[in-house]
Amino acid sequence: MDPKLYDQIIRNFFTCDPAAITAIFREFLMAVQAEGTLPPSQHMEQNYETAQANPEIHVLPGNLKDARDAVFPYFWGTDSWSSPLHLENVKGPANYASLVGALACLLKNPNLCTDTYSQRSNELEVKAVTALANLLFYHTDDPWGVFTMGGTISNLYGAKIGVEKVAPGAMHTGLASARLAGIVSEAAHYSNQSIAGWLGLGTAQLHSIPTDERFSMRLDFLAEKLEQLHTQGVRTAFVTATFGTTDASGIDDVAAIRRILDDFAARRGVPTPQLHVDAAVGWVLSFFGEYNLAANELGFCPRLLPLVQRAQALAAGLRAADSITIDFHKMGWGHYPGSAFLVNRRADLRYLSRSVEDTPYFCEADGRRDPALFTLECSRPALGPYTVMASLNGIGLTGWQLLVARALLLADDLKQRLESLEYAKVLNLDVVGPSVVWWVLPKGRNAREIYQRVLEGTLPADKFARYASEMRHLFEKREKSMDPALDPRLSYTTHAGHSAHGLALPAWKAVFFNPMTNDAVLDRLVYSIEELL
Ligand SMILES: *Cc1c(COP(=O)(O)O)cnc(C)c1O
Repeated sequence: MDPKLYDQIIRNFFTCDPAAITAIFREFLMAVQAEGTLPPSQHMEQNYETAQANPEIHVLPGNLKDARDAVFPYFWGTDSWSSPLHLENVKGPANYASLVGALACLLKNPNLCTDTYSQRSNELEVKAVTALANLLFYHTDDPWGVFTMGGTISNLYGAKIGVEKVAPGAMHTGLASARLAGIVSEAAHYSNQSIAGWLGLGTAQLHSIPTDERFSMRLDFLAEKLEQLHTQGVRTAFVTATFGTTDASGIDDVAAIRRILDDFAARRGVPTPQLHVDAAVGWVLSFFGEYNLAANELGFCPRLLPLVQRAQALAAGLRAADSITIDFHKMGWGHYPGSAFLVNRRADLRYLSRSVEDTPYFCEADGRRDPALFTLECSRPALGPYTVMASLNGIGLTGWQLLVARALLLADDLKQRLESLEYAKVLNLDVVGPSVVWWVLPKGRNAREIYQRVLEGTLPADKFARYASEMRHLFEKREKSMDPALDPRLSYTTHAGHSAHGLALPAWKAVFFNPMTNDAVLDRLVYSIEELL
């Protein structure tokens, strides 16, 4: 063995050299700054051909600059979504408090599977989930939670608790002949389908309840579905309510769903299905929980106050949930992965636990110290707790209120301006949230009247299909003619989350997830629509 070469490896890759590391980090930061001066478009095109044909590995040991060079083109070729012109979807720029947290985490690289491998980082997770649970369940007695790889996995935890509640021991025996179902709304995230498949229920056993025109689950249909499944001998394991649908920000009435589930279980003498709430996007409305509207210390404008008041009322519904999914990597402007699964009562985690014999590595295990007893994952990153606590405390409750209020206000501004155009119609006008979904039709069409007829069910499907294709055509026309340096980027959804008499409503979509987006961006957006026609 060549001792000199070995020493070089130890020196370059296992010895902390702050000067070398910060020099490279500064180069990355400068590239990020340079990106900020460019329009939000692809700086480099993908080269998938060679990525597969020539996956190279260097032969000789190098240094940290080789590590830099190995990733730099891909780093430069990736948009960090920091431009205020990005309005396409529920993705925003990551905040720098989160970066500080993430770097701290990466430097220690704890493993949250057990506190032996994570020590105080495990304690930080307890702190983070308790802080979030207090915000969402509102000072509940004994909450708990864990960070997961994403909203999908957090929803999976909720569904799995439901499965164990209605089919006790399924973790061990499997579903056997039990016929189980889950319920979501028509506007729920598609991840619930994945979950039903992966849990072994089957995607066909996930039932979608129609929404009303505000993109909320129809409660009458929910009650009906519970009865219908019961009559067929099917046990409903979970109802996953959506608190903030991905496209239209629709919010299910969690408190009312609670009453329906309790009533159903009591009447039928069956276990109450798990009431899980997918608040991946909408959870930030909880930041207004204690905002005093009368004192209005942050000077919210008169148009904002009723929005905040409604946000408070909606968020109060979360207290009725058994468990909640939040994605900090969405409107927490944190780094991926920053999703938390929260339970209102810690005892519910027993439904997820395996016995110590099943996890022989953790022979001295205790649920509080060793989350791996009930988590799906074994090794688990601590990025969530670090990015969340750094962000929550760096920005502060007041800071969060300002950030979220601004997103709500911009969304409402755009809604009002679009609604005043005869050929446009906002579909989520009465919904509180950061997104806007709307129709743009050719000049001369009365969008409001068409919308009314769709809701009443008096517009023939073929006629609606023609309007929908006009809408799409106009969207594509704007895409082709837009100036990437000036025009905000939008997206198009073929199903915004509500079907009226069988017609899925398509829409143009904008999401206000970037705190730097301002009125000038809004002006330009409305102008680009007026110009188009
Ligand atoms: C994004 C989203 C999810 C999925 O979350 P991931 O973190 O992307 O896995 C689930 N539900 C809703 C409502 C979402 O918007």
